[in-house]
This record gives sequence, structure tokens and C-alpha cells, in this order.
Amino acid sequence: MCKHSANAFAKAKCYRFLTRSVTLSDMNFCSECGGPLLRHVVGTEQRNHWYCARCRAPQYVSPRIIVTTFVASGDRLLWAQRGLEPQRGKWGIPGGFLELGETLAEGAARELCEETGIVVLPDQLQLYMTGSITFINQVYMGFRATVDVDVCSPGVESMACGFFTRDECPWDEVAYPQVNDSIRQAYDDLDSGSFDVWQAEMTESYYVLRSVSHSEVDQSDNGR
Ligand SMILES: [Zn+2]
Repeated sequence: MCKHSANAFAKAKCYRFLTRSVTLSDMNFCSECGGPLLRHVVGTEQRNHWYCARCRAPQYVSPRIIVTTFVASGDRLLWAQRGLEPQRGKWGIPGGFLELGETLAEGAARELCEETGIVVLPDQLQLYMTGSITFINQVYMGFRATVDVDVCSPGVESMACGFFTRDECPWDEVAYPQVNDSIRQAYDDLDSGSFDVWQAEMTESYYVLRSVSHSEVDQSDNGR
């Protein structure tokens, strides 16, 4: 059963899915002096960060942040076909890694423009989904926006882009099928015209997608 069955969130979905096991970053040498690194130990407990045995500088490894934007035009959502590895040629919701100095919305707007040519101001993006993906050490922040004109053009990082209804989606060519439920949820919200803010947790043993704004329990384990 899902570890989060006690949580009170409506529309929550929880099921198992199999992925590779957790791999922490393999850090070997200090970024300051090149000295050997030691795992930080507190008492008898090994922590997931390191320090330099020579200069004692701490070496932090943090999850990376992915920013995405669900852009709707009518009942269609904007997809982009990846032009870069990994998963070159596969499709996904436009997004990428947040860069230094950017706010979350600025990063999402930049990635959207780079991949699809669509310009949306950061303050026009509304927070839509948050997610922790522990098995690849990533956190994602999803925004949403609506456009009146469904014109897009692929940028240097994408091979193609387009607005698709749920039935038109390239479901067989999705870059990261682990997050398909999030995308299906976006289509559900488009259909209903009611948008929650969603919180996802994906680990090597479970996946849960919860509505932040609802408080009733409606959760099932699909056994995947
Ligand atoms: Zn050092």
C-alpha cells in the first residue's frame, strides 16, 4: 500500500512503479583544492554530503530544479520534441533546468521560449505543479499559461513543437513517461476548467499526485 494513505488530499493517486535504485552523485575530489572527499558523518549516521579531507570545505550536492510550463490553447496542450540528448526525438512538456540567478517563473518562461518560440512573461505564469523525483535527484516546478493563438516554432533545443489534444498526443514517444499522470491531470483540468495546484512525489517505490487545495481523502493504489 501507499506510504501516504493517511494523507488527506482529494483526487490523490498513488501507485507503485519500478525504477532504478537511488544513486547519489559520485563526487571524488574537492572543487576548491582537488583534495579527496570524505562523507559527512554525524554520530554513526552517514549524510548525503561531503567535505574535503585537506581544506575541510563542505561539498554540497543538491537536487536539480526543472521548470516546465503547461501552455493551453482551447483543449490542447503544447508539447515539444526534444532536439538534445537524453531522449532526443522524444516528446514532452516544454521545460528544462533552472539556471543560476533566475526565478522559477523566469526559468520556465525562458525554456518555453527556447523550445517553442512562445513568449509569455514570467508574471503571467501561474504555479500549477510541484514535484520531487528522488530517484533522479530532481525537483520540478510546473507553471501554466493560456494562449489565444496556437502558433509555435521549434528553437535550437527542439526538433518540433505543437498543440495536441489528449487523443493527438504522441503518448508512444514520450520522453519521460513517469510523469504522464501529471500530463493527463493537466488535460483533466483543462476539460473541467478547474485548476488545482498539484503536488507530486516520485520515489523508487511510489508515486503520489495530490491536490493541494482539497482536503478529502480519495486515494487508490493501482498496484503499478
Ligand atoms: Zn579542499
